[in-house]
Amino acid sequence: MEQTVKINSKIILKPSRIGKKYYVKTFGCQMNEHDSERISGLFELDGMQKAESEDNADILFVNTCTIRENADDKLYGTLGHLKKWKLESENRKLLVGGCAAQKDKNLVRDKAPWVDVVIGTHNLTNIINLLNQSEDWGPVTEIIDEIENLPTDAPSIRESEFSAWLTIQIGCNNSCTFCIVPSVRGPEISRRPSDVINEAKQLVSEGVKEITLLGQNVNSYGRDLKIDNKSRPYFAQLLEQLNNIPDLERIRFTSPHPKDFKKETIFAVKELSKVCNQIHVPLQSGSSSILSKMHRGYNKERFIEKIDMIRSIIPNVSLTTDIIVGFPGETDEDFIDTMDIVNYSEFDAVYMFKFSPRPGTVAFNMKQEFVEKKVIDNRFQLLKDTQTDISERRLKRFVGTEQLLLIEKLSKKNNQIYSGKIDSGQITHIDKGDLNLGDFVKVNIVDSTPFYLKAEQL
Ligand code: SF4
Repeated sequence: MEQTVKINSKIILKPSRIGKKYYVKTFGCQMNEHDSERISGLFELDGMQKAESEDNADILFVNTCTIRENADDKLYGTLGHLKKWKLESENRKLLVGGCAAQKDKNLVRDKAPWVDVVIGTHNLTNIINLLNQSEDWGPVTEIIDEIENLPTDAPSIRESEFSAWLTIQIGCNNSCTFCIVPSVRGPEISRRPSDVINEAKQLVSEGVKEITLLGQNVNSYGRDLKIDNKSRPYFAQLLEQLNNIPDLERIRFTSPHPKDFKKETIFAVKELSKVCNQIHVPLQSGSSSILSKMHRGYNKERFIEKIDMIRSIIPNVSLTTDIIVGFPGETDEDFIDTMDIVNYSEFDAVYMFKFSPRPGTVAFNMKQEFVEKKVIDNRFQLLKDTQTDISERRLKRFVGTEQLLLIEKLSKKNNQIYSGKIDSGQITHIDKGDLNLGDFVKVNIVDSTPFYLKAEQL
């Protein structure tokens, strides 16, 4: 049963499952969240509607992750739990995709034979064909090593009407020893600038006000492209072109790699009015010897140079980072180096993780050097306490300032409070009043905590 027609490499489907309901369960990072939006888009083109939960779904897609702690145990635990869901009705279809499926290949089928479709990260756009095949011939697994279609060739159903992810690049050419991404997402592939711009324009025409550009290493965007024999389109040039799109209000991006940070990108953040005043610079560790074991491609001094360069060009920029505590072999001195950089850099926020060995990575095999759990816990707490003090101090600088706030969602704890972000990315709460989701409002920041700001409408 062939249901897919390609026009200009885009996926067009003839709806065949009208009235069926689907649910997508997503684990992991923004890249997975965005892939799930694409899967939802394909399901809806095929005539399905989103179910409120897996309980009333006919088709359940589990988008797996290998990044988080104990991800493998969680995946197979989840699939064990879903066996009951699957067996409750013979019409139900269970589909598994994402990084764990790509990494484990046939293992998913061996461990969970009740799964109907196992699909890798490189061929997500083939999901409806595989679903059809499984209905005709029984369970199917398709994991391929080369990208078939960019996931961006599929339409997407977004979680938010006003903010959207926009993939500019997939895969990664680096080889950080703690990371599984290069082996499950493949080498870097940049989308052509014209495709990115066209998608951004399309999003704006649908009411999107803020886009977040997604890539594993956005700073190296374009180095695999050669367009019309001109020089390669640097990331800063892409930002400039996006900045010219009328009615697009805000542009964010994640994640840049410190080693590839170029001055042009920092000037783009400073000078382009729609590019938000925030930069994420993932440090991972402040120790040169640990950075070398991590294969990060910079040392402590080089990282500090990058921070100095950014602050000299944009003194008031909001900086955030990622840190892994307790990488194999991390000594007290190595951890002190990390704390030195944290104190020096004055990040607005630090996303901190305790090292956990992930199968398939180089660090997984550094067992002889694993740091004791108690030591990791103590270091983590010290980092957390120190950063909470820094964040408290940093966020106070906004109190008494005027800001533009995009209202994004209702607070989970109080349905009379809206939550959104100001230009530099800080989460900000405001009384609901007569505001609406998607409003851009001028506000006065009246209070701060280490984690969010409070605002009043002007
Ligand atoms: S830059 Fe390193 S951490 Fe980031 S995706 Fe590539 S390998 Fe993983």
